[in-house]
Amino acid sequence: ADRSDLSPERQPEDRDRALRPQGLAEFIGQAEARSNLAVFVESARRRGEAMDHTLFHGPPGLGKTTLAQIVARELGVGFRMTSGPVLAKAGDLAAILTNLEAHDVLFIDEIHRLNPVVEEVLYPALEDFALDLVIGEGPAARTVRIELQPFTLVGATTRLGLLTTPLRDRFGIPIRLQFYTEDELYQIVARGARLMGVPADEGGAREIARRARGTPRIAGRLLRRVVDFAVVEGDGTVTQALADAALTRLGVDGLGLDGADRRYLRLIGESYGGGPVGIETLSAALSESRDALEEVIEPYLLQQGLIQRTPRGRMLAQAAWRHLGLQAPRSPGA
Ligand code: ADP
Repeated sequence: ADRSDLSPERQPEDRDRALRPQGLAEFIGQAEARSNLAVFVESARRRGEAMDHTLFHGPPGLGKTTLAQIVARELGVGFRMTSGPVLAKAGDLAAILTNLEAHDVLFIDEIHRLNPVVEEVLYPALEDFALDLVIGEGPAARTVRIELQPFTLVGATTRLGLLTTPLRDRFGIPIRLQFYTEDELYQIVARGARLMGVPADEGGAREIARRARGTPRIAGRLLRRVVDFAVVEGDGTVTQALADAALTRLGVDGLGLDGADRRYLRLIGESYGGGPVGIETLSAALSESRDALEEVIEPYLLQQGLIQRTPRGRMLAQAAWRHLGLQAPRSPGA
């Protein structure tokens, strides 16, 4: 149940919307991506052209959608949004492409899940701003080329490795988003509290930032839950003591790991002597899809140095044994 509260994915985003930064200057963190994007946006504006196609990749909740919206706003163009799994047929994509206005941004989330037939339609659209439609069937079939307005595709993916090479090669601007530092998340939490009109002292905001798994979306969600406790059980102020108590009650530990993270680590430690264990084995034992493990759980554990990926599977690192309060077995032969 804790995973459904804390998962950065598949949650209604309405509450988040008010907190979304609107411009590059307001966007906290991702300094390198931000300064590069500022240049590409400015150049496209001065040349009066569509910005080059851009791919954001990285774990969920780090700001891919937010940055895509900001880019469109800074370019002063329209923003259309869809996602890989939604575009079932070639015609679905053709309908969207033919409705774009010059220099618009088309955002395709989960672009690694595009149907191959749809992807074929996308190639000439990206390269030549044209659609090649097949009309008729059998020997009478012929191809008609429809010109499109020049546009910018912004793709987002949590799984760069699942993109086909031809699709990946068509993005002139690939940008990898990083986990946020505690300081950056502190600024995001403090800003969020301000926008919600909730008093939060520095210790309170820092406690939430420290336990937000490096992820703004989680920081926002934890802030809202802590505010609930502050309103009902405190005096409405987010303090460190209150944040600590609330997060502990929500099952978020000192490193920001939740129940699903700890189950994953415990399984490797307690059932497999610290590994190596194959991902399929972990997936079956935890009843979690391999995708969820690879996209949501593992990236942060790897970044924190709690696990290692080896050719033979996942292994617990020393830091994880310590965090779980378990004794690491002596390695055989050591
Ligand atoms: P992604 O598309 O990578 O899954 P989103 O762009 O949907 O992530 O961001 C998730 C949430 O986190 C949004 O509600 C957004 O407002 C917030 N967010 C993301 N990045 C930042 C940031 N740099 N500063 C403030 N809020 C952010």
